[in-house]
Amino acid sequence: MAKGLVAVVGGGAAGIMSAICLARVGCPVVLCERLDQLGKKVLASGGGRCNFSNVSLDPSFFHEEDRPFVEGVLNRFGKKEIDEFFRELGLWSYAGEDGRMFPISNRSATVMDVLKDELERLKIQIEYGFDADVIQKSQNGFELRSKSGKKIFAEKVVLCAGGKTYPALGSDGSGYALAAAFGHTIIAPVPITLPIVVKDPWCHLLQGQKVKARAASRVDGMEGEWLLGDVLFTKYGLSGTAIFDCTDAVSLALNRTKDARQVEVVVDFVPFMSEEELFREFERKLAHGFKASQLIDGILSPKFGLVLKDYLKTDRTRELAKLLKKRAFKVEATRGWNEAEFTAGGVAIDEVNSQTLESKKQPGLFFAGEILNVQGRRGGYNLAWAWASGAVIGQ
Ligand SMILES: Cc1cc2nc3c(=O)[nH]c(=O)nc-3n(C[C@H](O)[C@H](O)[C@H](O)COP(=O)(O)OP(=O)(O)OC[C@H]3O[C@@H](n4cnc5c(N)ncnc54)[C@H](O)[C@@H]3O)c2cc1C
Repeated sequence: MAKGLVAVVGGGAAGIMSAICLARVGCPVVLCERLDQLGKKVLASGGGRCNFSNVSLDPSFFHEEDRPFVEGVLNRFGKKEIDEFFRELGLWSYAGEDGRMFPISNRSATVMDVLKDELERLKIQIEYGFDADVIQKSQNGFELRSKSGKKIFAEKVVLCAGGKTYPALGSDGSGYALAAAFGHTIIAPVPITLPIVVKDPWCHLLQGQKVKARAASRVDGMEGEWLLGDVLFTKYGLSGTAIFDCTDAVSLALNRTKDARQVEVVVDFVPFMSEEELFREFERKLAHGFKASQLIDGILSPKFGLVLKDYLKTDRTRELAKLLKKRAFKVEATRGWNEAEFTAGGVAIDEVNSQTLESKKQPGLFFAGEILNVQGRRGGYNLAWAWASGAVIGQ
């Protein structure tokens, strides 16, 4: 029997993957994208390099509560399958720092090139400028209506409209309303993996300084995991990968729970030494005849002297070591949706079948990618989730 049309809403990583995998098993597919271009977020990802996967795609790199659900998907389409998929399309890649995978060209456009080649080879119909406004049940499936009044009738619908971050790249959370119309619970979305607003003299005086450091969130005294990366002082506060990695707890405390009294990030500016070793290093330098004002030379940029002058004293070396190993910054706010790389929250996963990604509320409706309340770590896990979940629907 001929298969009915499947409408895939959203031409990002998950939607493209889903369209390709559905077409490969013989389903007629229409890929509906509101913009005039596919994969804008893929193009922007990884600073234009597209960190599209990771050598270790284990569910432990996803939020604790999501792991059983993620496992169901990765067991069917995991690291090996993602590698094979892209190799088959002719994409050459390499594993960089921390197992992050990049295209060999170091250009995200290369990833989009091979995906577009495959969409073309499979002759997949693409409806650009189709901004899905209403999706409702019709007699034999679904009726999709765009903002401009265009209609598409399909037997099944795959909703891959993404999260709410970087609306300029296409997704602004409109997919949540489409899912909610079928009775789905939407876990309040919050922006994560983003810079933070901190009103602290250090940010003002050190603006533009970038340090290799470790950082952790601290919400009402509860410290999160310490992760190594960059910390960048900016006009408004703090940025850099080490800060991005602790914004999960920070953003949830500020935006979702809202009852946290003290939301901070704590930074270790000398991650390659313990506090005791740092103290002994200061003492060694002083014993060797160096001046107290020269204590941080060779460890941090001289600019740090501006914020440490009260501590660069012979009798304050213990306090200096302590401060540099754990400096707390009070977080006023996050920089919001326009600067976030990822959305925490979305369609509740307990309302979706983890084997097929079909809605438990509405047969024939499927979800993939960032629209679901699944959170991976920075490092290629979110794109890997988009590829894997998109592919599983095709299977
Ligand atoms: C700056 C930046 C850098 C990133 N870097 C990385 C990285 O290096 N590695 C990594 O793993 N992750 C990275 N991420 C996260 C990752 O890119 C996303 O998680 C992933 O692209 C999500 O894919 P998606 O297909 O689910 O959603 P999206 O990519 O957001 O795609 C959704 C698509 O749906 C379309 N759409 C939305 N609503 C409608 C509608 N109503 N009708 C029709 N179309 C609609 C949008 O225009 C868009 O094209 C980055 C994100 C950002 C913002």
